Formats: sequence, C-alpha cells, structure tokens
Amino acid sequence: MGTSAAGLALPVVTRDPRPGLSGLTSAELASWLADRGHPAYRARQIADAVWRGTAGSLDDVSTLPAALRDDLAGSFRFDTVGDTELRLSDGGLTEKGLHRLSDGALVESVLMHYPARGAQRERHTLCISSQAGCAVGCPFCATGELGFTRDLETAEIVDQVRHAARRLAVDGKRLTNVVFMGMGEPLLNLDRVLAAVDALNDRARFGLGARHITVSTSGVVPGIRRLTALGPQFTLAVSLHAARDALRDVLVPLNRRWPIAEVVGAAREHAAATGRRVTYEATMIAGINDTPEDARAMAELLRGDHAHVNLIPMNPVAHTPWTASPVPVIEAFAATLAAAGVTATIRRNRGQEIGAACGQLAAERAGEPAPAVVARRRARLIDESAHALRGERSHEPAPAGVGE
Ligand code: SAH
Ligand code: SF4
Repeated sequence: MGTSAAGLALPVVTRDPRPGLSGLTSAELASWLADRGHPAYRARQIADAVWRGTAGSLDDVSTLPAALRDDLAGSFRFDTVGDTELRLSDGGLTEKGLHRLSDGALVESVLMHYPARGAQRERHTLCISSQAGCAVGCPFCATGELGFTRDLETAEIVDQVRHAARRLAVDGKRLTNVVFMGMGEPLLNLDRVLAAVDALNDRARFGLGARHITVSTSGVVPGIRRLTALGPQFTLAVSLHAARDALRDVLVPLNRRWPIAEVVGAAREHAAATGRRVTYEATMIAGINDTPEDARAMAELLRGDHAHVNLIPMNPVAHTPWTASPVPVIEAFAATLAAAGVTATIRRNRGQEIGAACGQLAAERAGEPAPAVVARRRARLIDESAHALRGERSHEPAPAGVGE
C-alpha cells in the first residue's frame, strides 16, 4: 500500500513482470523449453493450448504435466486480459469487452457479429486496442480525451483476440477479421503491433490471413514508411477527417507534425508498393468538416488515387461542442467524391465506426471530468475550429510524445 500526499492509503498496483505466453515467437518458446530441460515436442502442445484451446488458465491445460505448468507459470502469464467484463448490445450482435490489465490500466475490444447476407458469409470482426489511452488527442474521440497511459505489450494486444476467439469457439464459430481501431495509435507502438500481427498471421499460431487484418492510423508518417518497406502485412486505413490542413490541425493534432500532403504521400507510396488500396476514414461532424468546400477539397486531394473513403457520422462520445453530420449532408459529400472518381461508403450503423465507441467504457470508469474543465474544453474547440474554418493554421505544437 502507498500513501498519497493527503495521507490516504491507496492501493499501488504494479505491473506483472512476467511476459504473456502469447507474445513469444515459436523460436523463443523452443529456446525457453531447451534452457529448462523440457522436451522440444512440448512446444506443439503449448502452442495448441495457447492458440487453439478453450482453456482460460494453465491449470486447465491437462495435456501438460503439472511440473511444466508450474515452470511456465513462474515465467509467463497464460492470459494477460483474464480480468474482462463483457457488455452486450444490438441484441447480442455487439460484445464490448473491458479488459483490466495487471497494473489496473483499462482497455477495450469490441466483437461484432454480422449474420450471413445473400452470397456473403457470416463474419465476426474484432476491434482491438494497441495502447491504453492515446497521446494524439483527437478531440472527438473518447480515448483521445483520456490521454495516454501506456503502450500495450504484444501479448496484451494478442490476448484480446484469443479472448474473443475462445468465446466464439463455444458456439463453434471462428473470428474472421481483426481491426486495430480500438484505443490507441498503433503506429506509435509499432514494434509490438508488428509482433502481434505476426502472431495473428502465423499459421503455427493464430493463422488469420493478412487480408483479414486492418491497422488504422491517424497519420504517423515514419510508421507508414516502415510498413511500406516491410511489404504487405495487412490493410492500411488512414484517418483523414479533413483535406485542409488548418482544420486537420484541430481534428487530428498530429497533423501539426505530419501534414496532409506528407500523410497522403506516404499512403500513396504504400499503395503503389503493396498493390493494396488505401482506406481513408472521415468522422463527419456537422458544420465542421462536412461542407461542400471540404468535400471538394477531399475530392481533389484523392482524385485518381487507388483509395476508398469511409464516411462515419461522429459518435458523440467525447466532450465536444459538436454533433454528427445529418445523413443527407454525408450523402452529398459522398456524391462530390464520386463525381471525382473517388469511391466512398457511408457507415451508418455498426461496422468500423464501432472504433468510435472504443474508449467509451474506459472513459466512463475514469469518471466525468469537472464541469469547469468540460466548459473550457468546449470553448477552446469552438475557438480553434472557428479559426480553422477561416483557414488559419494552429500555432500550437504537436502533442508531446508523438514526434520523432
Ligand atoms: N488511432 C487510430 C486507430 C484507433 S481510432 C486512428 O485514429 O486511426 C479508430 C477510428 O475511430 C479512427 O478512424 C477514428 O477517427 C474513429 N473515431 C474515433 N472517435 C470517433 C467518434 N467519436 N466518432 C466516429 N469515429 C471516431
Ligand atoms: Fe488516438 Fe485514434 Fe482517438 Fe485520435 S482517433 S485520439 S489517434 S485513438
């Protein structure tokens, strides 16, 4: 127990130093077994328990001898998101998981079930978090409002997927898609995100095809370039939100470090090098980024590109002075893009926009900010967006922790 400045005893939760078992590569597991004098064939049984079994704890893995289980438990955690609270919505079609990590940090994942429709088979898509909180601070995002807590470990990312896969397995179903659209900016935790994608892709581990994995970024240009150099690993989605720098400075504060031309340039190089279409996302905010002028700017920016735009009405989850754009306004925006040959989809219901709701439960747990803080935040956003709409660029620096 620690003692706060006010003299009250507060529980101090320290992080469990043992890495998660699912964060190990096959080679790392093999070398651990060899060092400990366990037979090499155990690697296969351990991998089966981690990646294909339904056990939530090592104690339930009856294929392994007790001595090996004890040894494993001394070095690794079997499940880093064991403390998970589930909330169902949409008549059970959406399952939100709130995961409490070993140090008490909270992150969310959202599992969405899409029943079969016509020729399209049923899908089960999981939206996962890569960080607890986020340093980028997009004002419309619940995670951005929370601020940054820490990067997730590889196993903490992967275990969100294992948790959902185990739940699906109970009904004989399999996870079909994973999207990094939950809490955090994946390209600011890129080493761990790449290790997690590797584990998800690897046939000997989770075995999900690269085309079924999407990583969304707010525009971390060096990260996009690193991905381009690595070749196609997954689908890249870029959160654009605005095609004019003054406005994007406000909506995605990272834009002050890497402006639109650099972000779109890096995304184009990625598309050219990998042959994969880039997906752009725009959260549509009434009277802010949904005007005919904004639509024309985006159409000109993306004309002729191998790209697709998802238009998502803003989900009012953070404290802003703004509301979602009305559907007819978004339809007119999409029509302007289409006239320039840029395809766009309006996401009305669930789908990728559920990322929007990620961070909401964690924000609720963090408690409502003081009314004076909320009022100041709203006044600042009204002021900043008014300047931006006049085309005046922000003089604020990029948020700390996001530059090079
Ligand atoms: N940090 C990454 C990935 C996580 S956010 C990124 O920004 O791309 C995933 C998506 O949810 C982003 O496109 C983001 O702009 C969107 N989003 C966040 N809050 C939202 C809200 N309140 N309404 C609609 N979309 C939102
Ligand atoms: Fe971070 Fe993405 Fe939210 Fe922006 S939208 S604050 S980058 S999680």
